[in-house]
Amino acid sequence: MLRITPYLGIIVLIVSIAGLWFPILGYFLLIVFATLMITSIFRGRWFCGNLCPRGSFNDFWLGKVTRKKKIPAILRSFWIRIPIFIAVMGFMGYRLLSTQGLVNQIGMVFVIMCLTTTIIAIFLGVGISPRTWCTLCPMGTVQNLIGANKYPLNVNNKKCISCNKCEKTCPMQLEVHTSNKKADCIKCERCVLSCPTKALSFKV
Ligand code: SF4
Ligand code: SF4
Ligand code: SF4
Repeated sequence: MLRITPYLGIIVLIVSIAGLWFPILGYFLLIVFATLMITSIFRGRWFCGNLCPRGSFNDFWLGKVTRKKKIPAILRSFWIRIPIFIAVMGFMGYRLLSTQGLVNQIGMVFVIMCLTTTIIAIFLGVGISPRTWCTLCPMGTVQNLIGANKYPLNVNNKKCISCNKCEKTCPMQLEVHTSNKKADCIKCERCVLSCPTKALSFKV
């Protein structure tokens, strides 16, 4: 992760709360959407583990109060994620069409979207695990679909001693060293740093 990553969570509160009085702040979400779409082409879900304000909020704020339970496997299923994607995007599109192009009303649609998903993320993060929302977030799903195979995590099986430290530290609760399917890896590098034998690395 980047040095700035732990501090980005404050942006979530600024947009979700101050945005109710200053809807123009909602346009920040457009910057987020554009950035994650571009980065996903080259690095999959890298944005989620390094630049997403809500990802930072989930890790470094909710991480202090979470119950740290296992994220239910069903939430990783595209049978759940695609309908959520369609529902969230459809609802946002419907709200945008009803704004008649007014700048503040458009901004408010984004603010309400940010506030609503933040509340859901808090419930899931506190009740289950900090990154539970990130397993089904529409923007995470998009990055998965665009860049699933980009910037993959490589496991050197000759070095791996199966100590499992990588999986204990993974915020997405992935099978870090036992599975090659890691399209939802957010490239946070925590597993890499936790590995005692340096068996993990990212391929550029
Ligand atoms: S899954 Fe969504 S909320 Fe979570 S870090 Fe990625 S873009 Fe942000
Ligand atoms: S932390 Fe490293 S050595 Fe331990 S299981 Fe993971 S990859 Fe293998
Ligand atoms: S596999 Fe490693 S880099 Fe990927 S999300 Fe888990 S801890 Fe982060």
